[in-house]
Amino acid sequence: MPAPLPSPADLHVHSTCSDGTEAPREVVRQARAAGLGLIALTDHDTVGGWEEAATAARATGMGLVPGAEFSAKQRGRGVHVLGYLFDPTDASLASLMRRVRDDRLGRAERLVANLSRDFPVTWGDVLAQRSGDATIGRPHIADALVAAGLVADRDEAFRGPLHPAGAYYVGHFAPDPIDLVRAIVAAGGVAIIAHPAGRGMLPDSAIRALIDVGLAGFELGHRENTAAGTAHLREIAEAHGLIVTGSSDYHGAGKPNALGENTTDPAMVARILSAGTGSEPML
Ligand code: AMP
Ligand code: FE
Ligand code: FE
Ligand code: ZN
Repeated sequence: MPAPLPSPADLHVHSTCSDGTEAPREVVRQARAAGLGLIALTDHDTVGGWEEAATAARATGMGLVPGAEFSAKQRGRGVHVLGYLFDPTDASLASLMRRVRDDRLGRAERLVANLSRDFPVTWGDVLAQRSGDATIGRPHIADALVAAGLVADRDEAFRGPLHPAGAYYVGHFAPDPIDLVRAIVAAGGVAIIAHPAGRGMLPDSAIRALIDVGLAGFELGHRENTAAGTAHLREIAEAHGLIVTGSSDYHGAGKPNALGENTTDPAMVARILSAGTGSEPML
């Protein structure tokens, strides 16, 4: 009998390596305090937190699955894909990540230039909100607006000046999800669509195309998924024998999402662990 997997498992959490507000070691500490047995660190478009999280997990006996939440885009619709257990040194996946991260920098600077027409906020103010070479995003701009007393919190910034339909918005490069899923799979990783039944759900034809190139499953337990969309995707998952997960999408103080508010069934965790061959989990 194999040893039981650490549980409960929360396979989608962010740190200061992207837009979470706690360092990887602090996220591990908080996960332990919340009673979790296993987390996946899934910062946006980076593996920058893996080492620190692994050291903290080893020290506290917390299970850790290395991962990332990759940005993709199809017909102007943003899609987030969680990748688990991929090889971080895989050349094509690493270059894809680098391209997204680099473009995010110029994009954020242009967005801030647009904002500065009406809001007293500078690029320096935004960089002051970013930890090291974290993947930069609108949350850091939101934090600069909060620090300047211009909005109360990130949510107000997203509903106002950072809204995609607003006057200041600028997008960034992101690969087509087909190319992304192919790259994750080629790097030994497991690809799961994050919050797939939230706003801007992919049409069935696009989902089928992703399954054809190796998509492993859906994150069905997520606060942004609608009930109807979740039920629909659950049928597709059952028909194709896909993995389904549940997770918090914890961002520290950056979002109300609480560690462990959704968790993943141990049988599904086991399937992810056996499918991922590009890096090692810590169990
Ligand atoms: P970006 O990728 O730079 O366009 O920014 C999107 C990120 O902002 C996502 O990763 C979300 O986690 C975060 N985000 C989106 N809406 C909100 C919100 N209302 N409050 C806090 N964070 C948000
Ligand atoms: Fe985020
Ligand atoms: Fe996401
Ligand atoms: Zn996320």
